[in-house]
Amino acid sequence: MSTANDKAKSTDVPEDAHKVSNFLRQIIESDLAQGTYASRKWAGAPGDAAYHASGHPDPAKIRTRFPPEPNGYLHVGHAKSICLNFGLARDYGGVCHMRFDDTNPEKEDTEYVDSILDAVQWLGFNWDAHGTSHLYQASDYFDFMYRAAEFLIQAGLAYVDEQSADDMKINRGDFNNPGKDSPFRSRTREENLTRFREMRDGKLSDGAAVLRAKIDMASPNINMRDPAIYRIRRATHHNTGDTWCIYPMYTFAHPIEDALEQITHSICTLEFEDQRPFYDWLLTRLSETHALKDGAQLSALLALPNPKQYEFARLNLTYVITSKRKLAQLVNEGKVNGWDDPRMPTIVGLRRRGYTPESLQLFAERIGVTKSDSWIDYSTLEGCLRDDLDPKAARGMAVLDPVQLTLTNWDELMGSDTLESCQAPIHPHLPELGKRQFKIGKSLWIERTDYEETPPKGFFRLFPGNKVRLKYGYVIECTGAKKDAKGQVTEVLAQLIPDTKSGTPGSDSVKVKGVITWVSHADAASAEVRLYDRLFTEANPDAGGKDFLASLNPDSLKVITAYVEPSLLSSKPDAKFQFERHGYFVADRTDHASGKLVFNRCTGLKDTWTK
Ligand code: ATP
Ligand code: MG
Repeated sequence: MSTANDKAKSTDVPEDAHKVSNFLRQIIESDLAQGTYASRKWAGAPGDAAYHASGHPDPAKIRTRFPPEPNGYLHVGHAKSICLNFGLARDYGGVCHMRFDDTNPEKEDTEYVDSILDAVQWLGFNWDAHGTSHLYQASDYFDFMYRAAEFLIQAGLAYVDEQSADDMKINRGDFNNPGKDSPFRSRTREENLTRFREMRDGKLSDGAAVLRAKIDMASPNINMRDPAIYRIRRATHHNTGDTWCIYPMYTFAHPIEDALEQITHSICTLEFEDQRPFYDWLLTRLSETHALKDGAQLSALLALPNPKQYEFARLNLTYVITSKRKLAQLVNEGKVNGWDDPRMPTIVGLRRRGYTPESLQLFAERIGVTKSDSWIDYSTLEGCLRDDLDPKAARGMAVLDPVQLTLTNWDELMGSDTLESCQAPIHPHLPELGKRQFKIGKSLWIERTDYEETPPKGFFRLFPGNKVRLKYGYVIECTGAKKDAKGQVTEVLAQLIPDTKSGTPGSDSVKVKGVITWVSHADAASAEVRLYDRLFTEANPDAGGKDFLASLNPDSLKVITAYVEPSLLSSKPDAKFQFERHGYFVADRTDHASGKLVFNRCTGLKDTWTK
């Protein structure tokens, strides 16, 4: 569930982002300059040639689309595609359609639909333009797809093949051998039409026949060797129920969806490159008028100009898996705590980890789009979050691995049980945000690692005889520590040096090399802190078919109890902070509440992952 004010506005993209060109921008700019799509009409909704011809000149200069299958939660790869498609439409006076590609009846579920819509909106985009909600589902086009199939049959461009699946496979040939014509390839148009209608009417069993496009069994591109376009499948569809027992193949459905929606630039990932010839073949045939035997004509079904498909490299991110199937496996086998586990690369997971829409938009801009596959380093993603949070996240002090510090001369100098007020800027560069207030007293919490009995070279923090500044507080001098029977430090001892309080005149008269963070017993609150790390220890966990579960990072989650300064007590779920010296943290969206503080580590202050 998202609220209006945590959604980014699409105008939040950095100014200069629009200037970074790429091959897709060049194509669009050239199409706009040449008026490639200037003559298009739009009748207000998706439709065929006749329908659009009745419309007005399209108010959208270009149309793109984001077409997920509703079969899982969106991940960071989809975020790239969303930013790309919606971003291009925004930048060039176009519209991006939100389309559910739900033509496959088996895998889809309405459960995912809401989460997908929410993710796109949260990222800062929407599909409303020119008074229309461009939210579509491909299954609404089943009637038209069926018509298109009959059209191809009538034009002599499709046939019902009843070879066995094995024969069909053998006769398809391979890279070295051309395919062989099916014995059913020479069926007459009438015979094909009758048989196809029998398929539709449930007279044939599942798998008994397929409708194939009649193209070229010797084509060097195997995808052009009479690809299947309709199959029989008795499955209940979440939108159309049991209306159909035949369903279009993806390669047939997708171009038609684009054409009905008058998409201009259909942007997909590289693995569809070999499908482009069929995409073009199909749309060209459906936009042509065909002569029938008796001198009659079959008029064009689809409006021109046709959409064009362009391919870009999908996002591959090191230490991350972006296959929905494998992500589902992590969830189903309990390797993570659900789809929104902050270690998941899902958009809901990233969001719970503290990623902002702006940081993901920035990421999409920084990685850009290319035509060849590559791996993006995980640190690039984290860098974008840091760059987004640093200028705006409120600061706070938290002690993650606490040990007590006692100021042994406090009572004598300040009076017993006395507390002194300290203050610090909420953000060092945003004075308008005001100050945080907290108390200092005799007993404090500091980081265990800030004390060393025998300090290594270059250690400037607490060791007997050394002076450090308690950030926003006083300079103190360490006098030693108490230990338990095992030699573990239980309490660090120090003396306060008078007249050194930060912000008071002469406070810097005592020079120190170290500054440490702290909170005091008097007003700190205890909080659950979830220290998240990368989910995998290997950079390419599933490369080459590797078992990705083998490289699950056993230390990807460490839950600790920390002490945090009082300003964090009133923090709201989803609020982001920089815990000074420690990194960026977000109040957990689900578990954080007043009275139960839960913070997730988003990322450290700098990239410290050891390779
Ligand atoms: P998966 O294989 O994990 O199921 P998918 O590609 O099938 O993912 P879709 O729901 O079909 O997922 O994807 C919707 C859109 O998102 C497609 O246009 C696809 O190109 C794009 N997309 C999916 N994964 C990535 C990725 N890793 N990088 C860039 N774009 C992606
Ligand atoms: Mg897919």
